[in-house]
Amino acid sequence: MDYLPWHQNNWDRITMQFIVRRNPHALLLYGASGLGKRVFAESLSSLLLCQAPMKNKHCGRCRGCVLKQAGTHPDLRHVRPESSRQIKIDQIRELNRWSVQTSQQGGYKIAIIYPSEQMNVQSANAFLKVLEEPPPQTLFILVADKVLSILPTVRSRCQSLLFSVPKHTEALQWLKSQHDHTDNLAQLLIQSGGAPLEVSKLLNGDYIRLRNDVAQNMLALLSRKTNALEKAANLQKYQPIDVLKVLESFVSKAIRLSMVKEEKNISSQDEDDAPSRLLASLEVTALFQFRDQLLKAVRYLSGNSNPNPLLLIEAIFVNLSRAQIRN
Ligand SMILES: [Zn+2]
Repeated sequence: MDYLPWHQNNWDRITMQFIVRRNPHALLLYGASGLGKRVFAESLSSLLLCQAPMKNKHCGRCRGCVLKQAGTHPDLRHVRPESSRQIKIDQIRELNRWSVQTSQQGGYKIAIIYPSEQMNVQSANAFLKVLEEPPPQTLFILVADKVLSILPTVRSRCQSLLFSVPKHTEALQWLKSQHDHTDNLAQLLIQSGGAPLEVSKLLNGDYIRLRNDVAQNMLALLSRKTNALEKAANLQKYQPIDVLKVLESFVSKAIRLSMVKEEKNISSQDEDDAPSRLLASLEVTALFQFRDQLLKAVRYLSGNSNPNPLLLIEAIFVNLSRAQIRN
């Protein structure tokens, strides 16, 4: 994938630095998740490893491009957490050894470190050593969703590049060009905080099946025919954050429906869908409580702590099963 339309300014700025040879040794790409920072890192790597770039893009045909596309370029490294959530010191020591070797294809050596906030203190300190005396023709690209979790001494030795949420219309236009199923793209985009790749992830990950499954388990719980722990376990196969976001979308829509109904005293057009049935089952105060709990859980899961996702969803389902039912 090439860099994305909303990356244009960042792309022009960074590639110009390489053209005039005033480029940094270390780049820190930061901003919310789902904006394509890794896509940018890969595109920049492709350009720098290409032996015959054209108009500021890689050619796709030279030896450098072929190796890059095959994922076997010897001068490109990816450093990611392995067994745990952390990037460990051994990985950084290995990276440091690699970075002082000469490049095998005669061009740049590039290392992409993601998520770079997952370097622990020892790893970050080991990495600092190589940043203090950067090897020639070597570029470190750090990618971070949570830039403040990176050691300030590391941050200060990188050129930082912020990735912002694109304009809604621009993001929507791009999403429409990528997906056949375009019914509720605008709503999904808002729910995803304006991050287009989060929406793509949902759609590519069989979002419809996820929604149906979450709806079924939630509605069974509201009908009091089942127990909460069993229903929570049914959803274990999905990413917990995705389950929470779907639940949040249901309850937010239920709340909106309740307001429309009060104002206009009309019945919902689609009584069968999950939000309508949620509204039919729960008092409005219970809906607000449910949503608060979901938002808290989303924040908790997105934070730096490492909560047990199953317990989190179980707690939400237990509370929902005890929520006040409409008479
Ligand atoms: Zn090429």
